[in-house]
Amino acid sequence: MTVSEEEERARIVSIKGSTVKAKGLSSYRMGEIIYVGEEKLIGEVIAIEQNTATIQVYEPLEGLRINDPMFLTGKSLTAELGPGLLANIFDGIQRPLEIIKKMSKSGYIKRGIQTNAIDREKKWTYEPKDKKKGDVIRGGDILGKIQETESISIKILVPPDVSGEIIEIQEKGEYKVTDPILVFRNRIGDKQELTLMHEWPVRIPRPYQNKLSVSQPLITGQRIIDMFFPIAKGGTAAIPGGFGTGKTILQHQLSKWSDADVVIYIGCGERGNEMTDVLREFPKLIDPHTNNPLMARTLLLANVSNMPVAAREASIYMGITIAEYFRDQGYSVLLTADSTSRWAEALREISGQLEEMPVEEGYPAYLGARLANFYERAGQVITLGSPYREGSINITASVSPPGGDFSEPVTANTKRFVRAFWGLDSTLANRKHFPSINWQNSYSGYTKEIEEWALESGLENWGRYRQEMLKVLQKDNELEHIVELIGSKALPADEQLIILIANIIKEGFLQQNAYHPIDTFCPIDKQMKMMKLILLFYERANMLVRNGCPISLINSLRTVNILKRMKEEIDNEDMTQLNKIEDHIISDMEDLGSKYGYKL
Ligand code: ADP
Ligand code: MG
Repeated sequence: MTVSEEEERARIVSIKGSTVKAKGLSSYRMGEIIYVGEEKLIGEVIAIEQNTATIQVYEPLEGLRINDPMFLTGKSLTAELGPGLLANIFDGIQRPLEIIKKMSKSGYIKRGIQTNAIDREKKWTYEPKDKKKGDVIRGGDILGKIQETESISIKILVPPDVSGEIIEIQEKGEYKVTDPILVFRNRIGDKQELTLMHEWPVRIPRPYQNKLSVSQPLITGQRIIDMFFPIAKGGTAAIPGGFGTGKTILQHQLSKWSDADVVIYIGCGERGNEMTDVLREFPKLIDPHTNNPLMARTLLLANVSNMPVAAREASIYMGITIAEYFRDQGYSVLLTADSTSRWAEALREISGQLEEMPVEEGYPAYLGARLANFYERAGQVITLGSPYREGSINITASVSPPGGDFSEPVTANTKRFVRAFWGLDSTLANRKHFPSINWQNSYSGYTKEIEEWALESGLENWGRYRQEMLKVLQKDNELEHIVELIGSKALPADEQLIILIANIIKEGFLQQNAYHPIDTFCPIDKQMKMMKLILLFYERANMLVRNGCPISLINSLRTVNILKRMKEEIDNEDMTQLNKIEDHIISDMEDLGSKYGYKL
């Protein structure tokens, strides 16, 4: 961030938590970035009372003293948007972690380091599109492109709030992000330049033409999501769960395997070593949808542990603004935030420092409004500008309710604004059933749209398979209490069969090991085929049972184990092996029928 620093005779008058109060500043406004103290820590004005400004500081405040100076910048908290963002890791205020680490050398991040988010020296090969002198440009128009990574070609856009007539335009060539690529005359007749990058204030949603209803699934490769509780492109989902239930691992899985064009992962103040796991693991992975390195479409925002809570807030806004920038280029973007509870806690802490009246469990009255504004920035849209394009943002946000209690304010408020709810369950997690998404209390508000999509995409059975499997699980759940009391042997055979099939579904289909080389990602075709096989087994077994065949005989068929292990033992692309299982099921059941005289 570069600034015109006009030093004022402004002084700190009090310091409390991660906020300071200052007097003597003139002509500042809400949301303005202020540099605090001699070290110029980055802060933002969050309250103004008479001649006192309250500033939340995004860096550790140790050593700040009363009477330390303040510096106005005249700017809001902005995101730098342009080529050079992908495959990088930034902190909550978009400072590249590698660079600040180098600049501070000591290994941990020094305070008050002002650095650009985007490298100013690197040159990019820019290919302009068919615009020429005299053409009118409007916000969102595509001026040209840059192949930024193997996976993503960055579209250079006219910033949303800009329009005018082109006076000068550069040709294809090598440019730095701040080199002018176009000069235009704006509406009031002034000359203005455009470069490969521009800035946008993070608290203001980037405008678009229209919001559309969602229609396509975000394919995640996680069976319980894709088949049972799907999310559409542009959709929102909450992942609430107590400690250790698998929120972070699920977010990693979504970031790694979803078929979004761009992934933005916000590590928001959860355990410190988790970001290092991401950094170690992600660069080694290949995107199954493009066969390019996963990092070529990924950007990480990490709240480093020595940053104060206010930085978590910044990272959420920074992340969603960068997501909107890629959306505006016509891409589908997945934004994962882990965990939004840490952000809500930051709001609570800062609200306390402002001495605001708390509402529920100490959270400020505006908690719901802040969450609503955040989720509102997801969606499928028609972007500004020409040519016509659509882009989307998905938000998947984990929530960490204390004690796993979903009625607490952050979970309850989040539930109001998301359409899919993947509730993680500590009982399942304790049994090592992962992902521990509870199929009783989870839901998706996108099933209707996805069913329509499935019908058009040759997956006509998606809805039926889903219903049938959920029905088995539902009945199994109803039987659970009886089984606990009297054991399953006392049940009639058809109910014993339900329990057997539910077990196959749970073990063979719902459980998915994130660490298994094959099972970590399951393509849609395999998911559909697996459902088909389990349901075929159920159908045939049901016929035998109705003809008096005892469950023990069905249970001892080799296909039971084959069905439980096909997820890991059969290569994801190997449909012929899955077809063989179909033959096994049919022949096993026929053998059983003819051996004991049961009719199929
Ligand atoms: P949380 O973020 O909810 O505290 P984590 O995501 O860190 O929980 O998960 C805790 C542990 O659960 C992981 O270290 C891992 O051992 C296990 N786990 C979670 N999800 C899976 C999965 N899909 N496959 C295998 N193990 C998992
Ligand atoms: Mg976690």
